[in-house]
Amino acid sequence: MHELGIASGILSSAITAAENVGATTISSVDVSIGVLTEVMEDALQFAWDELRQGTMAENAALTVTMLGARSRCADCGHDYEHGRYDAARCPSCGSYVVMLLQGRELDINRIDAD
Ligand SMILES: [Zn+2]
Repeated sequence: MHELGIASGILSSAITAAENVGATTISSVDVSIGVLTEVMEDALQFAWDELRQGTMAENAALTVTMLGARSRCADCGHDYEHGRYDAARCPSCGSYVVMLLQGRELDINRIDAD
């Protein structure tokens, strides 16, 4: 269950950021996660609820935005959204030379702390 490690990383980053600005409590954390990370949002929320106990983020809601996968064809420049497993081929020209634009993110967008 790699969500536990990811939740732990989000929590420690949020606490470090909050401590750096002299905050004592964290009220919410917003993250964006690409679908290609294979992170299950429910499992991440579950891990977050466990890990935040007894920390300054004890009452902090975790808001997760899942980002779809997008790639751009290197041959024709076509941008397209796709699922986890069908990224390899441009739907416009059929090229296999494609670059991933979005889908592997694991970003903390915002931390609300007081
Ligand atoms: Zn193409």
